[in-house]
Amino acid sequence: MQVSIGAVRIRVAGIVQGVGFRPFVWRLAHELGLKGWVRNDAAGVEIHAEGENHEALIARLQAEAPPLARVDGVSAQAADIEGADDFTIVESGGGKVSTAIGHDTAVCPACLDELFDQKSRRWRHGFITCTHCGPRYTVTRRLPYDRPQTSLAAFSLCPDCQREYTDPADRRFHAETTCCPNCGPRLALQDAEGGPLPGDPISATLALLQAGQIVAIKGLGGFHLACDARNAAAVAKLRARKQREEKPFAVMLTDGAACARYAKVGAGETALLESPARPVVLLPKQPETDDLLPGIAPGLAEIGLMLPVTPIQFLLFHEVPEMALVMTSANPHGEPLVIDNDEARQRLHGIADAYLLHDRYIVVRCDDSVRRAATFIRRARGYVPRAIKLPAVGPSVLAVGGWFKNTVCITRGDEAFVSQHIGDLDNAAACGFFEESIVHLLHILDLEPEIVAHDLHPDFHSTRFAAAFAAERGIPAIGVQHHHAHIAAVCAEYGIVEPVLGLALDGVGLGADGTAWGGELLRVEGGEFERLGHLYPLALPGGDVAAREPWRMAAAVLHALGRGGEIATRFTDEPAAKTVMTMLARGLNSPQTSSAGRLFDAAAGLLNVKRRASFEGQAAMLLEGLAASHDPVPPLAKGWRIENAVLDLRPLLAQLSASDESSHAAALFHATFAAALVAWVAEAARQSGIQTIAAAGGCLLNQVLSGALQKGLAHEGLRLLLPRELPSNDGGLSLGQAWVAITGFRASGVMR
Ligand code: ZN
Ligand code: ZN
Ligand code: FE
Repeated sequence: MQVSIGAVRIRVAGIVQGVGFRPFVWRLAHELGLKGWVRNDAAGVEIHAEGENHEALIARLQAEAPPLARVDGVSAQAADIEGADDFTIVESGGGKVSTAIGHDTAVCPACLDELFDQKSRRWRHGFITCTHCGPRYTVTRRLPYDRPQTSLAAFSLCPDCQREYTDPADRRFHAETTCCPNCGPRLALQDAEGGPLPGDPISATLALLQAGQIVAIKGLGGFHLACDARNAAAVAKLRARKQREEKPFAVMLTDGAACARYAKVGAGETALLESPARPVVLLPKQPETDDLLPGIAPGLAEIGLMLPVTPIQFLLFHEVPEMALVMTSANPHGEPLVIDNDEARQRLHGIADAYLLHDRYIVVRCDDSVRRAATFIRRARGYVPRAIKLPAVGPSVLAVGGWFKNTVCITRGDEAFVSQHIGDLDNAAACGFFEESIVHLLHILDLEPEIVAHDLHPDFHSTRFAAAFAAERGIPAIGVQHHHAHIAAVCAEYGIVEPVLGLALDGVGLGADGTAWGGELLRVEGGEFERLGHLYPLALPGGDVAAREPWRMAAAVLHALGRGGEIATRFTDEPAAKTVMTMLARGLNSPQTSSAGRLFDAAAGLLNVKRRASFEGQAAMLLEGLAASHDPVPPLAKGWRIENAVLDLRPLLAQLSASDESSHAAALFHATFAAALVAWVAEAARQSGIQTIAAAGGCLLNQVLSGALQKGLAHEGLRLLLPRELPSNDGGLSLGQAWVAITGFRASGVMR
């Protein structure tokens, strides 16, 4: 960039607000002897610089940007000399918002030093923050990101904080969420009935936790329910009160070394645990983990661990570093996370023995993110609302996602803003959170969508909302087939516009023909798709209930093998066995599905791994754990058939039905299923000439399967793309829906 005149106007786009960008510019300008000003505006940061060295300034803006900043573009043009005699930071400019808000991050090292420094005026201050760390998305009402737009607006700065805030040389210069013990939010510890508890809130909380009590602790994006993870009775009490019998709990530990005691932690995983986003990371357990942390992740091969995020959590662990705390989302009955103090006392009544509260309002509900190495299981705190770059610019689309693990997505130009994990839209509160999230995202992005995209299923709350939203505004609503959306999400994040083969291995999504799909081989090209093949359909005896009771899927397999008569003798202790046998024989209330998830259930049912699942995907997870515990086995010879692009695994299932060694059989199932998928996909690749395979769907979270698939397809010379930026489960649907709407819109030639 060559601008050789006396004054220059520079625009910086990207994540440049709320990350200490203006003081950074101020320091650079002073160092370079430049005059002028810097300000936030709706497009990012604008700089007016006068003096000789503005080229050096432009070069260093990108190269030396602050840690939380992401500079997407710097542009400069000549400007008139204003004759400034200093370089200053000036008031935000108004205008239409087109910038991004930062994401919440863990306390930075500099703030941690102060937190535990007795001489610091912020010693043990539970709300310590600076321009490089702390809450952002969860405290911001609207852009531009300035203190009055955040929930810190309620706390006026004391003279000391004010001095730091207005001193460009201070690291809290324009730290919008800054505060101190004199002027900031306050901690309070209350008993189960909301009465005050005496003593220092942190020490008193620790005493309760060590005594086996359950404490609701207010975090960044909502409350956690915490208890001593090493205390079996406390964990059992939490399970009973939360009515969460088997689902694993996440555990917070003081540092990476503590994590290594309970899990096998690789270098990449340590980096993830310690990253500013601080997600829950799923890690393989150590052999003694179940004894050390009884009842935390029963029967599973993995445990979810995380490190402290907020100053309050750091304070708790500072006093008792050996502590292991259950930190589970306070979301009773699968409803959205509790964020408000009054709400906590109501909704957590009977669950929490005490409440560690404060008076900083949570603006946006945001759960912990969950990751396994490079993949997301749940994307929320620490990552949202970071935009995902699309391969092309399009109209603004609101995509409303599906039913399970809902997220929504709003696009602006070539950026896609995917919301935090909202949850399953099976209750009124979750539906409320869904609508609230759409309103909030549209508000902070200041957008009016031009198209709405939704699932084909007419009964989803998201679909009905989309129809009403579109009708109200007179804009088009586009239905996108579930598995098309899964594959399109992968294409969008990898920037692929050419045709791909899409392998969707999923629970269930409504197919274009009105039946339940879920094990699909598609040809996807932007807004278009073709169903090339699918798994051999199995019956769902009893409909939806079959998805929760793997033994019913096993019965469906026996029926499909022409051995329906064995059902009643095999499942003698299932009261419904005879009914299921009759239903299957007569084809009553037994819709067909090509779902891959149900195939896993069928295998788990045949092997008696799990008769009834207590949460979605449990049977498949247990089956995966068994397979992972066994040495690798070769695929079963002639374990499958492919006819007219229908992949039929009945030979493998017949073998499983006669197996009595479940871990070997689980390994055999995974190896054979993967080999069959590779053969199936390779054949389609030969016929179509397409070498790129995009795979998505909840089943791909299964590492044994995805690992074998990766290997097998590479052996065939094919390129496999798996989701990285979003979960491969239904949390990624909204991005795919948005991308299908954009590409369809572009193809129709109505570009503006
Ligand atoms: Zn900091
Ligand atoms: Zn203060
Ligand atoms: Fe799905």
